[in-house]
Amino acid sequence: MNRPLKNYDIAELKRLDLAHHLPAQADYKLLEDIGGSRIITRAEGSTIYDGEGHSLLDGMAGLWCVNVGYGRDELARAAYEQMLELPYYNTFFKTVTPPPVRLATKIAEKMSVGNPDLQHVFFNSSGSEANDTVLRLVRYYWQLKAEPDRNIIISRRNAYHGSTVAGMSLGGMTFMHAQGGPMVPGIEHVRQPYAFNEGFGEDPATFTQACVDDIEARILSVGPDKVAAFIGEPVQGAGGVIIPPEGYWPKVEALCRKYGILLICDEVICGFGRLGQWFGHQHYGIKPDVIAMAKGLSSGYLPISAVGVSSKIVDVLKTGGDFVHGYTYSGHPAAAAVALANIEIIEREGLVERTRNDTGPYLAKALKRLDAHPLVGEARSLGLIGAVEIVAEKGTNHRFGGKEGTAGPLVRDLCIKNGLMVRGIRDSIVMCPPLIITHEEIDRIVDIIEQSLNEAEPKLRAL
Ligand SMILES: *Cc1c(COP(=O)(O)O)cnc(C)c1O
Repeated sequence: MNRPLKNYDIAELKRLDLAHHLPAQADYKLLEDIGGSRIITRAEGSTIYDGEGHSLLDGMAGLWCVNVGYGRDELARAAYEQMLELPYYNTFFKTVTPPPVRLATKIAEKMSVGNPDLQHVFFNSSGSEANDTVLRLVRYYWQLKAEPDRNIIISRRNAYHGSTVAGMSLGGMTFMHAQGGPMVPGIEHVRQPYAFNEGFGEDPATFTQACVDDIEARILSVGPDKVAAFIGEPVQGAGGVIIPPEGYWPKVEALCRKYGILLICDEVICGFGRLGQWFGHQHYGIKPDVIAMAKGLSSGYLPISAVGVSSKIVDVLKTGGDFVHGYTYSGHPAAAAVALANIEIIEREGLVERTRNDTGPYLAKALKRLDAHPLVGEARSLGLIGAVEIVAEKGTNHRFGGKEGTAGPLVRDLCIKNGLMVRGIRDSIVMCPPLIITHEEIDRIVDIIEQSLNEAEPKLRAL
């Protein structure tokens, strides 16, 4: 795409941003102190550009979402054509528009692989909204089944399910729970399968069993007939790319079946190829009853999310009259048209297979190089999502400064200075690049992390 570069008055934009705009998940005083946010003005492929002439390799695919990369004319055209024909109509009035029908059909085709009961799709505009839908849906399902006391949802500590009241309540981020409560009642948080922090040096099978036992103990303590559902990300993303040990998910699924509990997978990051399958749960070979998806669904080109629902649940919904839930923008035709075109790109370019067979294994191999680095406690990845744990003492999980949160932000800032956009979560550097990332770009990601660790080491050792 060759378009003329726009000339922005960056200093003016920064000033106006500080004066009027409140960015997401930000420290407003700190932004003021550093002179305002970095203004990203354009992007192409896997590279983003700011208004001050810097280019950055986008190791985060935006915010875990730009799976097909930037600069896709095809997606812009899909939105443009749909907006000219019909920019908007709702799904409240016994009405629908063509794009959400076709998109739901396409999603059903992908999510029913190995799980033929997963056939139905409810649309929303964000991952958080999708999880609001999930919460209402599963509780209402049990009401219709004449088991209204089954309303407890079990989630995990350090899970991320969004930032609306329901999303953050379902999530297990204590620093989010600390602001703006009270939370939605009836949500219980159990142990996360974070071996590096919570099972260091333990036998993996023992650690896995301990995590599963914690879930079962909670089911028993709240009462098995009070539990509506278990929710989890196949791989925890915002929690720091927590990849569960082998065997964890099948055991969790078996627990859900044992106690008649619905299994919900939050696929907002793992969906659409991230783990080398269309959905993350397919990698683990489990069969959820409900899945939430967003992010890679449209590669972030327009906001849209979806909830996949099994026929077993929809059959019950049919006994209840109106399901009085839905949003003005549920099934938005332009967003759905873009998502459909996005899925067509993923299919045509074989990005799921490429992640599974080529770039995913290549990233894993490239990260192995970091295992030898004195600051690296563990470098892990699955498909095209990964994390590098920074430790003070090789062979341990001891952190600089005696607690988490010192090394991560320092190394992250160095990576950004060195031309790589990544995120620091506690003391890990996490990455989630576009699925179009090349071998050369993967090498560059690892090189920049290595260089940044080298630059950080004397500073961290001097603490
Ligand atoms: C990002 C995310 C959400 C929330 O999505 P939003 O679009 O930011 O509301 C929910 N679940 C998971 C797993 C996510 O990564």
